[in-house]
Amino acid sequence: PPPQSHNRRKAKRAVEQAETPLDIVFVSAEVAPWSKTGGLGDVIGSLPIALAARGHRVMVIAPRYLNGVSDKLYNSAEDLGVTVTLDMGACGYQDVKYFHQHTNDVDWVFVDHPSYHRAGNPYQDSNGVFGDNQFRYALLSLAACEAPLQLHVGGYRSGEAPGFPYGDKVVFLANDWHAGLVPTYIAGKYRQHGVYKDARCIFAIHNLSHQGVEPAVTFPNFGLPDNWYDPLSWEYPTWASINGPAVNILKGALVTSDRIVTVSEGYAWEITTAEGGWGLDKVLQSRQHVLNGITNGVDLDEWDPEADEHTVANYSANDLSGKAACKEALQKELGLEVNPDIPLIGWIGRLDHQKGPDLVLDAVPGFASRSCQLVMLGSGHPPYEAAMREQEERHPHHFRGWVGFSIPVAHRIVAGCDIMLVPSRFEPCGLNQLFAMRYGTIPIVHATGGLRDTVQDYNPDSLEARFKGTGWTFTPPSADAMLSCVDRALQIRWHNKEDWGALIRNGMTSDLSWDRAAQDYEQIFNWALMDPA
Ligand code: ADP
Repeated sequence: PPPQSHNRRKAKRAVEQAETPLDIVFVSAEVAPWSKTGGLGDVIGSLPIALAARGHRVMVIAPRYLNGVSDKLYNSAEDLGVTVTLDMGACGYQDVKYFHQHTNDVDWVFVDHPSYHRAGNPYQDSNGVFGDNQFRYALLSLAACEAPLQLHVGGYRSGEAPGFPYGDKVVFLANDWHAGLVPTYIAGKYRQHGVYKDARCIFAIHNLSHQGVEPAVTFPNFGLPDNWYDPLSWEYPTWASINGPAVNILKGALVTSDRIVTVSEGYAWEITTAEGGWGLDKVLQSRQHVLNGITNGVDLDEWDPEADEHTVANYSANDLSGKAACKEALQKELGLEVNPDIPLIGWIGRLDHQKGPDLVLDAVPGFASRSCQLVMLGSGHPPYEAAMREQEERHPHHFRGWVGFSIPVAHRIVAGCDIMLVPSRFEPCGLNQLFAMRYGTIPIVHATGGLRDTVQDYNPDSLEARFKGTGWTFTPPSADAMLSCVDRALQIRWHNKEDWGALIRNGMTSDLSWDRAAQDYEQIFNWALMDPA
């Protein structure tokens, strides 16, 4: 089924206006619904809209991926007729074009270049990860630096004439390693010519495990002055012993940006430790005074149990009858026994070691022996896909492994299940537990990063925790720990309907809005403006 249309207008909510409206430029490899492989796409599809609603002028810059499958999503973005030639050093001069549309009060800008026109997802095809991603995203970063100077897309703020550039007094929010060269280019290529003197760069970490690391000999491909090698150079023993010295784009962003944000407070702390720092913990420690965590929100229009277009019924915290209908429909769709009393448990995610799909697969016999039904939706690492198929054959009455990427199916699983498992080994924020809470599905999560921050443990011994609880956390990340946690949850489901109902309501009424997060980002922007690094 086609991804959701980007032209759908988001419901306007009454939102407090920012005291000082800013010009904000997001740079990202993904933006939903045009491109999404995970949470990064979700965030960049939502946070800009929440900031624009507060009165900021917001531009989002991402590649114009033409993969032959979802190209029509870009139909409403018009060619601005501007060609900019970028000096990509040893990779030569490269021409990029820009496509633009203005929806939900945001300027969505798509950078066009032949290297973004290929089959597959943004980063890889069926043969594996593209070999030139360093080039493709260096190009995105430099094209993004030019956009506020060159594109006449300003003018949507009422009372001002259309057709002027944002100019160079902007706040960049560069996301993950793909946009990590933005602060380095601003510092190394522009400021020395007096451009972007008053701009600020915030770097947002959505996942520290991908850093844009390549051999040091690729440094000339960036087109940066030679004296900018040091901020990017990286000698991490495990990498260096195999590949020699490296350039690390994410490390460059950490040392050149004004402030650093990550997607939960828990993860902001974890990445400064040797266990969670992926070799950058020392660098992050040295930047701890400008490092903050802001928990992601949920797109309340896309994930709305009262108006979800992908589910057979809608419902609210006051009337959960629609949820029962969703469960019945999901059991039918999966070809499992239709029975409201059988616990239906879900897992959604990339089939990647990080997300713990192996823990769920290991637990399938345990779930079967507890007479639970379990459904996994995911795509990625082929051995996990094979294991999902194998477990389905072995446990046809208890397990379904849905291999693929489908947003409608994700919605139906979130709505139809009783429990959502999120056993990630590490998790910067995690979105599925938030979607689950919004849909009255109880999250059971590994106590790590953003999962620990967002799921409030049910604790029958503490009155307060009992009435605030939204789910359960477990540790260590193992099939056994997860199964015993599920046992504790099922105990409550069977024997304490009142508390189970309270857990559902607590989740459904939590404030998961992007507006809260947008205000926190605004605070970071203001700090950066007052006190640049
Ligand atoms: P990450 O960004 O690490 O993949 P997140 O939990 O932050 O993890 O975000 C994942 C997003 O991708 C969620 O919106 C989730 O529902 C979605 N998703 C992951 N796998 C699938 C899939 N196979 N089908 C549909 N949606 C998926």
